[in-house]
Amino acid sequence: MFEIKKILRPHIANLTPYSSARDEYTGTEGIFLDANENPIGSVAGGNFNRYPDPYQQEVKQALSNIKGVAPSQIFLGNGSDEAIDLLYRAFCIPLKDNVIIMPPTYGMYAVSAEINTTEIRKVPLTSDYQLQPEKILEATDSNTKIIFVCSPNNPTGNSLHQADIEFLLKNFDGLVVVDEAYIDFSSETSWTNRLADFQNLIILQTFSKAWGLAGLRLGMAFASEEIIQVLNKIKPPYNINQLTQEHALKALANVSEKEEMVKELLAERKRVSEKLSALGSVKHIYPSDANFILVKIDEANAVYDALIKDKIIVRNRSSVTLCDSCLRITIGTTAENDTFLDALVKICNKTMA
Ligand SMILES: *Cc1c(COP(=O)(O)O)cnc(C)c1O
Repeated sequence: MFEIKKILRPHIANLTPYSSARDEYTGTEGIFLDANENPIGSVAGGNFNRYPDPYQQEVKQALSNIKGVAPSQIFLGNGSDEAIDLLYRAFCIPLKDNVIIMPPTYGMYAVSAEINTTEIRKVPLTSDYQLQPEKILEATDSNTKIIFVCSPNNPTGNSLHQADIEFLLKNFDGLVVVDEAYIDFSSETSWTNRLADFQNLIILQTFSKAWGLAGLRLGMAFASEEIIQVLNKIKPPYNINQLTQEHALKALANVSEKEEMVKELLAERKRVSEKLSALGSVKHIYPSDANFILVKIDEANAVYDALIKDKIIVRNRSSVTLCDSCLRITIGTTAENDTFLDALVKICNKTMA
């Protein structure tokens, strides 16, 4: 059975966290002479002279209303990459513990592991990019702390079978992180609906993709209150700045704008897929539940280089496990996609000739 006590690093369990001025007095009215801020104002204008809410309560309340998850079960990070890093630091003892990833997948799980000198065990996806749940369990031992599941997966674009993820949640006594960075583009339901069923479930989402706020750096983690408390304990006190909190509130008051953009991008994804499938050089278009398409194409490296010469930049994934000869193409605006498709047709005609 999963018990957080069994997997939390002991020194984190015993840590006395930094107590900020805003922790010690939480009222909003008064004369604040406690945080060494500048009371006069901000250089170059704006309203940034006060430290932001360390727990982003307004943003979490707004998110809670949309996601149906209690504010106490939400963590906000400086990108979801911050949550990934904090999970390592909270649960993985360097040079002793290990995590499991399923290549091909998002690169940060492995990079964060290496930064934290944590062993990475790899159990590749199948040839149709699905999990091998029994093999994943076999790869675990008493030092395995986290299994990273990315669904829809980057760079393949597909969603992973929910039954396989459920198998891991039920049979593994460590943490199962389900990274849903692309969930807004997917027809699957979010695992946030299942938080009450699994104490070891952590869901990651981000404002960087569908919300169009990559530059803001804001990521979300949803989990049990116990897990969220651990992340809150070890995070930098003011990890989400005032401007980000203000803009996130505005964004959350305009969900329909996100939905409209998603609709437009999904229509473009369909159109681009259809156009690509008409090209002789394109050997396979992988089904996508995300805002990008993985494409197997003849002479992927040459095509990639030729596109760059036309100032069109896609992601060359051809040296990645199971992605031989593949390019990952983010869905752009209609005009960008047209320019890309025109250039690709010309390049393919030339390389085929
Ligand atoms: C883009 C992406 C993220 C987002 O990271 P942020 O730090 O929130 O920008 C997380 N996971 C995956 C799989 C991604 O592709």
